[in-house]
Order: sequence, then C-alpha cells, then structure tokens
Amino acid sequence: MHSIPIDKTPSFSKLSLDEQLLSAVNKMGFEQPTPVQLQAIPLALDHKDLLVSAETGSGKTAAFLLPTLQHLLSLPSGKSGTRALVLTPTRELAQQIFKHCQQLTEFTGLKTGLITGGDDFRLQQNMLRRNTDIVIATPGRVLELMDQEIPDFSNLEVLILDEADRMLDMGFSEDVLSIANSCNTRRQTLLFSATLTHFGVIKMADKVLTNHKVVALNTLYDGHRNIEQQIVLADDNDHKLKLLTWLLQHETYNKALVFTNSRIQADTLRGPLRGQKLRVGVLHGEMDQKDRNRMMELFRDGEVKIILATDLAARGLDIKGINLVINFDVPRNGINYIHRIGRTGRVDELGLTIALVKHTEWNLMSGIERFLKQKFKQRRIKELEGKYKGPKKLKASGKATGGKSKIEPKKAAAEKVKIRHRDKKNVGKRRIPTVKSDVAVN
Ligand code: ADP
Ligand code: MG
Repeated sequence: MHSIPIDKTPSFSKLSLDEQLLSAVNKMGFEQPTPVQLQAIPLALDHKDLLVSAETGSGKTAAFLLPTLQHLLSLPSGKSGTRALVLTPTRELAQQIFKHCQQLTEFTGLKTGLITGGDDFRLQQNMLRRNTDIVIATPGRVLELMDQEIPDFSNLEVLILDEADRMLDMGFSEDVLSIANSCNTRRQTLLFSATLTHFGVIKMADKVLTNHKVVALNTLYDGHRNIEQQIVLADDNDHKLKLLTWLLQHETYNKALVFTNSRIQADTLRGPLRGQKLRVGVLHGEMDQKDRNRMMELFRDGEVKIILATDLAARGLDIKGINLVINFDVPRNGINYIHRIGRTGRVDELGLTIALVKHTEWNLMSGIERFLKQKFKQRRIKELEGKYKGPKKLKASGKATGGKSKIEPKKAAAEKVKIRHRDKKNVGKRRIPTVKSDVAVN
C-alpha cells in the first residue's frame, strides 16, 4: 500500500505491544501487520476514538483487538464490570471474533466472553458476573441481559462496533445506541465499517465518537453500495451553472441533491435553474426551522426533486431515492465529501455523484482523492466543453500540480471577487428572490 514507507518493513514488534501479544501474533503466523492494522493500532493505543473502514479480509479484527488487549494489559483495572465490549451483527461473526480473541489472549491472563442469542441465558449471566475482561456480543442479547440489569458497563474502557454498516442495515441502530448510551462516557470507541458512505454509519459516528480520527483504506465501491464518482472540469461558476443545468436536465434520477459551500451560492443558483423550468428547493442553515421542515417534506414526498443545499442543512437529511449528488463547489475536505455523497447509493440503489471542478479547486479535489485513495472518473460533456482541461498545462509550464503554488491563492481571491461582482450583477438582472422566500419552489 502507498501509505507504508518502503524503507521500513512494517513489523508487529514496532507497534508497542507486549511480548504476550507478540507471541500470540507469531503463533498465529502473522508476519507483518496489514495496512489497516499498521494505521489503526498506533492511534488506538493513543486512546483515540476511531472511525475505520477497510475492505473485507483486511485484518480489521486484530486491528481493534490488539490495541484493546494491550490497553487491558497495561492498565489493570481495580474496578468491577466488563472492561471492553465488541458488538457485531451476527452470531457467526461474534463466534469468529471470540476465537480470534482467545488466540490473541492465549499468553495473557485476560478472560474473553461470548454473548449471543440462542445460547444459554444463565451461563451468560454468570459469565458477566465474573467480570470477564472482554465481551464479544450481538446487540439483541446484550439488551435482553440489560433488562435484567446484569451487564455492568459503567466502567467500560473500550467499546467496539464491528461491521457497523451491517448492524445498521440489519436494523440494530437503536439497540446499538442504547447500549452505547449505557456505557461509561469516558470510554474509547472504535467504529469499524466496510464503507464510510453509509448514511447510518455517519450518523452513528456523530453520536458515539468523540473527536475521532478516520482511517479509510478501502475504495468506496465496496459492498453493495454502488456510487459512481465523476469529475467534470469547469472554467468558472458561470460554466458550472450551465453544466449543472445540463446535468439536471439530462441525467436520470429520482431526486437530486446539489451541494454548495455557502448559503449565498445555494440562493444564487436557484433563480437561473428556475428560469430553466427546473423545480428546485433550497435548504440551508439560515432558514427558519419551519421552512426547512417544509422543504424536507416536499423533497421526501417527491414534490420537489432537486434541492440546493449546504452541508449544514443537509446534515439531518436521510431521504430515500436520492441517486444524484452534484458538488457544485468542491467540499472543503474529504470528510465533507464522504458526508455529501453518502446521501446516495443506499441499499440496492444506484448512485451517481459528480463534482464540478474549476482550476482553483483542482488541488482540493486531488486532496480528496488522495484521502479516499481513489481516482475519480473524468467525464466530458461534449455540448459544454470548456477551456480548462486539468493540471496538465500547469505541469507543462513547469508547475507541479500536487505542491502548493504561490499563484493559486491570488487566483482564487481574484476569482472570488469576480464571482461576487457577477453575483451582484445577476441579482439585479435575474430577480433572485431574497433569503426570506427560500422555500419558494418554482
Ligand atoms: P476483516 O475483519 O477485515 O474482514 P479479519 O480480521 O477477519 O478481516 O481477517 C481476515 C483473515 O486475515 C483472518 O483469517 C485473519 O486471521 C488473517 N489476518 C489478520 N491479520 C493478519 C496479518 N497481519 N497477517 C496475516 N494474516 C492476518
Ligand atoms: Mg471483520
């Protein structure tokens, strides 16, 4: 993987793990940590909350078990109750993790417990009373036991949600949240998912993690999610508007979500789109909650099929049938990008996301690609081909695309001024409604 420095061979012994754990790893025949282990273990050992995604079979189990076991070994607790809890969607997975954990704890004195539906309730109660250090469980049975006030998670040190996307798809969202809410609030939480684009996972992460770090090693095409990601190059915002109009008129979609980086930009786009007979609504954080709710309803019911939104307003948005997400402005960072595109490509739905990228945004966009370890498909729209063809020209003239160019910020500033002038001019010409009438739909 690109992220591993080539000059240093990664090895488990460099990961600050106790001999007991290294012996187990050795016995299991693991020669080197996998990329997700290499990235997640040091962060987890630093006691950070983590949101981790890596593809199936990449070694995620040891990526959360090893730092958790290390923590349990190095800081013996004088308190009662379970110290670490792993929640996972199915019994089979719980059993698999349980076995993995038993192998890893072979040379330690740590006790591992398994709690799944279908197994003896009483045995599980007894096991929990004996202060098992680390418990691997499915959420349903844990809740049943919680009804009997048996598990004590008030001193829990580490909570792990494995296969979070699957747990949510299986309808365990509420269960997982109630369990998380009954745990010690000062715990460390590690959330593992095969994908980061799952809306439920993003929401869950917001609720259960604190100041978390993200480790993203997979492509976003994994699993059943199907989000096609494209880039269309644009000369300036006027060109972007033409592209946006064309896309909204020619793409096939049930509902489309267009993101801008500012409320003003969202407002500015509405008039011209309405002029093209596109029925669009606007949603941003400075609108009345009442108006926002009404707009959401219209969108949910399909009365309005296109919404222009800012990140802030779209945060609470969980609507079926969105299969086109257009980034009119390139989001300011990779996490925002993931949040935005995660609104599409839900279970069994196809999603398409298109970012309109002008020259001042190229570096930002490549930063997002690097962050996601992905290269997006560049698409050309023949009818609206612009002059900007990407950074090749920059390269040819001796300017590297990846590095910071001193000229870029100036250009960006100049462009901003231009946009402001133009927007002002447009406001007069196109009679764009004021913010007050934000819910107005054409
Ligand atoms: P994931 O949870 O990412 O799907 P698992 O944790 O189940 O993956 O691991 C997949 C397989 O890889 C398991 O058989 C596991 O024992 C093995 N494995 C994990 N880490 C390593 C490693 N560092 N070296 C070799 N094999 C490993
Ligand atoms: Mg796994």
